[in-house]
Amino acid sequence: MAHDINLNPENGFGIDHLPLGIALGSRPNEGHVVTRIDQFVLDLAQLTDLGFDLGVDARVLCGQYLNSLMGLGHESMAILRERVGDLLVADHLDNRVISAIQPVESVRLGLPIAITNYVDFYSSLQHATNLGRLFRPNGDPLTPNWRHLPIGYHGRSSTIVVSGTQVRRPRGLRLIDDEPVFGPSTRLDIEAEVGFVIGKPSQLGTSVTTAEFFDYVAGVVLVNDWSARDIQSFESVPLGPFLGKSFLTSISAWVTPLEALARARTTPVLQNPSPTGYLVDHDPWNLALDLEIELNGSLLSHPPFASTYWTPGQQLAHQTVNGADVRVGDLFASGTVSGPAPDQFGSLIELTDAGTKSLTLGDGTHRSFLEDGDTAIIRASAPSLNGGRLCLGEVSGTVLPPT
Ligand code: CA
Repeated sequence: MAHDINLNPENGFGIDHLPLGIALGSRPNEGHVVTRIDQFVLDLAQLTDLGFDLGVDARVLCGQYLNSLMGLGHESMAILRERVGDLLVADHLDNRVISAIQPVESVRLGLPIAITNYVDFYSSLQHATNLGRLFRPNGDPLTPNWRHLPIGYHGRSSTIVVSGTQVRRPRGLRLIDDEPVFGPSTRLDIEAEVGFVIGKPSQLGTSVTTAEFFDYVAGVVLVNDWSARDIQSFESVPLGPFLGKSFLTSISAWVTPLEALARARTTPVLQNPSPTGYLVDHDPWNLALDLEIELNGSLLSHPPFASTYWTPGQQLAHQTVNGADVRVGDLFASGTVSGPAPDQFGSLIELTDAGTKSLTLGDGTHRSFLEDGDTAIIRASAPSLNGGRLCLGEVSGTVLPPT
């Protein structure tokens, strides 16, 4: 590594962010915990090999996933962040630190978390209203339960993949001229979501309260919940999402620790009616994450996460109120984030009015749903600790034709 590293703190990856990821090694099952600073990746496992004490057991920095590190809890995470930050603010970077730095484009990042359980919610009032209008045009767009609890379902953890993984167009049964026909989905869609990673297990038979969110959640990722709308709409009566969703879900390679989002807290939207007891948060908050959806280089939408109706704290309380436990490595996602304005919708089905309109991309081509070869990228930024903006790790994926 060259010795002329100038770190730019203004690009979303300053020392007040320090997201965590996994750099894959050359051998199978080999990985190192890394963080990102500016356009560089700093190898934390290598730092401990070089003799730096980062305040955590060096063994949690080696391996394929962040689970062991995240399971140490926020106290350890704060120490780690402080020690890494101290190494990076020195007037002249220690040569040993420089030796543990690589340009981000030269590092192969893996799925950061071994996902144990996956829950997906449906927390955006605008998204639920938009889909309700499309699927039940003659009724109330919101089902009677929607304002009383955060609707969710248990998804498939084994098909959660890291950003950059290609997306094979799924096959399934969908209606053509009112007849079920097996074949490749023709209505492949994206869903821009925010995901939360559990860093502390709860006990089976107990519940986690809204106020305990910070204890149990380690960090935040961006999520693209790829959705085959034609398969989904045929199969989902009367049960919820199944094969139309379970073929693939992408998450960002970087996990932003909750510590880095302390200044991104914002007042949540007013809930009417007032939620029932276990969903009340006496210190209510949401996160001011501003999302962006890009398709083949064209910006399509900028969904504001702060507009989601049910907050992350309520989502966690809800999924455990029946005594179900959470484990280190569980992921729960917000559901598609859609703001009130048409250029804030978080999926193509909403942006194109169920495919009845098309979007014009920068290259002059038109899209209603995804075509083979299309690349979708979801990004997000938020207020950072030092008063600037941090960028969450992006989540991208390119569509492959069906096999
Ligand atoms: Ca979803």
